[in-house]
Amino acid sequence: MQMDFLEFSHICEALEGTAGRLDMTGIVRDALSPLDEADLPLFIHYLMGRPFPDWSQEKIGVGPNSVYDAVAYVAGGDRQVVVSAINRSGDPGKSVEILLGKKEQMSFFSESLTLNDIGRDFTLLAVIGGNKSQREKDRILRRLFANASPLEGRYLARLLLGELRIGIGEGTMRDAIAGAFAVSPAAVEHAYQAANDLGEVALIARKGEDALNEVHIEPFRPLKMMLAKQGTVTDMLSETGVLAAEYKYDGTRFQFHKVDGICRMYSRRLEEVTHAIPDVVAMLDAATSHDVILDGEVIAVRDGRPLPFQYVLRRFRRKHDIASHIKEIALAPNIFDILWIDGETLIDLPFAERRERLVAAVSDTCVAPQLMSGDEEEIDALYRNALNDGHEGIMIKDPRSPYTPGVRGKLWVKIKPAVDTIDLVVTAAEWGEGKRAHIFGSFLLSCLGEDGSYIPLSKVATGFSDEALQEMYVALSDLVLSEEGKMVHVEPQIVVEVGYAEVQKSPSYAGGFALRFPRFIRLRDDKSPEEIESLRMIEERFLAQSSR
Ligand code: AMP
Repeated sequence: MQMDFLEFSHICEALEGTAGRLDMTGIVRDALSPLDEADLPLFIHYLMGRPFPDWSQEKIGVGPNSVYDAVAYVAGGDRQVVVSAINRSGDPGKSVEILLGKKEQMSFFSESLTLNDIGRDFTLLAVIGGNKSQREKDRILRRLFANASPLEGRYLARLLLGELRIGIGEGTMRDAIAGAFAVSPAAVEHAYQAANDLGEVALIARKGEDALNEVHIEPFRPLKMMLAKQGTVTDMLSETGVLAAEYKYDGTRFQFHKVDGICRMYSRRLEEVTHAIPDVVAMLDAATSHDVILDGEVIAVRDGRPLPFQYVLRRFRRKHDIASHIKEIALAPNIFDILWIDGETLIDLPFAERRERLVAAVSDTCVAPQLMSGDEEEIDALYRNALNDGHEGIMIKDPRSPYTPGVRGKLWVKIKPAVDTIDLVVTAAEWGEGKRAHIFGSFLLSCLGEDGSYIPLSKVATGFSDEALQEMYVALSDLVLSEEGKMVHVEPQIVVEVGYAEVQKSPSYAGGFALRFPRFIRLRDDKSPEEIESLRMIEERFLAQSSR
């Protein structure tokens, strides 16, 4: 039987009222088993607040204003009615629920929505694409909200706005899938790393543990990237004895897929960027005759020296005049890992073995040089060379480690000069003053809470050039959720890197911490909001600094 969106909404409501992770896992687990083949993946994606699988290039592509317009149309009134309601409650989902409650009394209510209906409309919205077909999109949104009961409206609006607020993380979902289909969480995790889609993994889990262990990487489905933590050479050496050290290139991460001469390039956020950097794609294509998935960092170079990170981003963002930009900014790929070759999944092999496979398969013009060493002085010398050559520092890696997609662990450690910087997401902005009155002048930055919510940490108003402020304004003005005096709340989408002097305890912020002397460094549009610093990591920074 198909699941109704109302039932889904009741489950979301139950989860929202549940605090303990075990209890949440239990609720999800019980909901999973009865679902049919079509509903199971949809249920999982939606419960995690994502309309499509993580590897998918599909995007719903509707902004908050379109959502408000549709709700206003259905509930009677104009967008302002919706915006004022949100300003009062601070919660777009609950405001939509209340407004749709009024609609119900007028008995507009018609057909019931199934999970499948939502899936069909999300796909339609994604297929319609671009701004040109706004009318068609508006029609779909109106139909959805016209058929939604108030409670459904709460979760529909949140799904469309990209903030479900029920706190189902990947770990909870993994355990729920394992519980529902009597398989081990490790097998679910393993399959998830290769398939990058928990919805599909659940379908496989239903077939049993062996089926999960059989899951292989599929080309043209980008995997999450393995990430690094901060640490020291001494600590890592005492742990591993020998380590692999490479330059830390200050550019942009990429994942390159090639099969039968067809090449595609993905950014760190797993968005396809093949069209933006045809020169890099051609270099990588020429560098190997194998079918491969490669992981690396592309940097901009001039006269043999790396240019700052912003130059690469300019190239990645480019949609037109690509040819002239190729002339202006030369890019060079540095490959440091191989995840798949000629149908064989390599992520479970130790890094040292993957490196051998990489060197054997790919021309060394594109492969990042590596030092394998147990000698601290030798590694320190590499670090000094890296800085002299204009790079950010070095990466040191455990040669025994598998490739763990999406994991920020101690298997990869970054060593760079001691400037404390932190990546946070902008959750609100404040109008500027004087000549900056028409753009935003300061920004409220938030970190990630345990339940996936965003917790305010600091305001930043310094370090911006006029150009950077303009860029922030353009990036944020499409994301406005509500306005409150001079404060404008925005959808948490834009990640920025800020420098700071110290993490301090603060009663004025909900997380209990604030940054001292925050200073804007750069926009990190290569990072997604899920990748920012968590409150737990901030607490770790606080403790580390007091023990210094
Ligand atoms: P951070 O963004 O500061 O967490 O540092 C990790 C990032 O450094 C990775 O996501 C890569 O984009 C980048 N990076 C540069 N050089 C390397 C390298 N040799 N190995 C791994 N990552 C690298």
